Amino acid sequence: MIEMAQSTIKKAAKQLQLDSKQLDLLLQPKAEHQASLTLKNGKTYKAYRVQHNNNLGPHKGGLRFAEDVSLDEVRALATLMSIKTAAVGLPLGGAKGGVAVNPKELSGDELQELSRAYVAALAQHIGPDKDVPAPDVNTDARIMDWMVDEYSKITGDTTKASFTGKSLQNGGSLGREQATGRGGAMVLAQVLQDMGIAKKDFTVAIQGFGNVGLHFGVLMKQYLPHAILVAASDSSGGVSSAFGLPPAKLAKYKNGGGKLLDYPDSDSVELAADDILYEEVDVLVCAALGDVINKDNMSRIKAKVVLELANGPLDISADEYLTSKGVTIIPDVLANAGGVTVSYFEWLQNRANETWTEPEVNKKLQHYMQKATTDILDYADKNKLSLRLSATILALQRILDI
Ligand code: NAD
Repeated sequence: MIEMAQSTIKKAAKQLQLDSKQLDLLLQPKAEHQASLTLKNGKTYKAYRVQHNNNLGPHKGGLRFAEDVSLDEVRALATLMSIKTAAVGLPLGGAKGGVAVNPKELSGDELQELSRAYVAALAQHIGPDKDVPAPDVNTDARIMDWMVDEYSKITGDTTKASFTGKSLQNGGSLGREQATGRGGAMVLAQVLQDMGIAKKDFTVAIQGFGNVGLHFGVLMKQYLPHAILVAASDSSGGVSSAFGLPPAKLAKYKNGGGKLLDYPDSDSVELAADDILYEEVDVLVCAALGDVINKDNMSRIKAKVVLELANGPLDISADEYLTSKGVTIIPDVLANAGGVTVSYFEWLQNRANETWTEPEVNKKLQHYMQKATTDILDYADKNKLSLRLSATILALQRILDI
């Protein structure tokens, strides 16, 4: 992921004829904070916060709890965040954080202790005008609520604008949960319209029917009336049906704890492991993990369009190969930016002590996603460049104010 992020920045820098000082500013994080968090049970966990760039506003980015969290991964994700916030035109910078822990091994009390310890160790580096963390892999509104409470105890700040993704009763924003999937559907609708294929029936497969993939699946018909979901998967495997799968029914089944591999439907067939990636569909939506399409499997992809709802689902080889084959790749920095955009709205609401209605939030989201997509499509068209490179060039121009 770091290779992909840095290689795209270097290509964009070349197009913009940046000097080495400007390039260094974009490749090197502004600050890297590390701490060791020790719980009462004696166990110690490594914690990170990488602040990549804040030229446009406070650093912004998620915070993940996962065993394989490493400084390299956090650096890559922080870099992507700076590009993402700038590509969508938000007055925010980029950051990412994490703790190397398997949260399933912790009791509820230990999870709370770890969350508060993270804030205690890093409080001086975060805050509404410095760096605003949010949920990511294995972190949620409950954890953000603990963190914002700890932050307010340490600093006296009562705005709750130091963290986003909080619960609704604690300053969270309506529409945040669906925002990444909804934003992805808005972007896809516009790209397909531009390609002239939105007005006829087309097929969609979704890898990763979790928070992002599920909401995308349920909401896509609102923006893409001709979309037909023909395959969906989770970590158990997946299902496909030539007759189309009902997204709302699948979502209800998943929310009830079902595994997609066991989805009971006589018209559908089981899909093993990663087979969903190789389905003959018009649009492949990657909403699970990073690096799922790589040099080992890229030649098996048959989709015409790949929507990157996950962060970094394609590695560099796959990105270059599929682009050379004429596949339209809608890059993560645009496709999944709906989440950070509504996080920005949450931060604004907290600071102004306001609560926006869900239709208000969705309307503002549509405005940002539409403007960003139009700008990126226009730039790509004019300069005959990929959407990823175009998004990165526009982001760098904003970050460097050139
Ligand atoms: P999630 O944990 O809710 O969902 C992930 C889904 O992927 C789960 O259903 C899981 O079973 C499935 N999965 C895991 N391994 C799989 C595999 N090998 N094959 C198929 N499915 C698999 O997470 P999420 O919040 O939906 O995030 C998904 C991706 O989107 C992540 O890469 C995340 O970083 C990115 N993202 C999320 C947001 C957000 O707002 N949640 C914002 C931007 C980017």
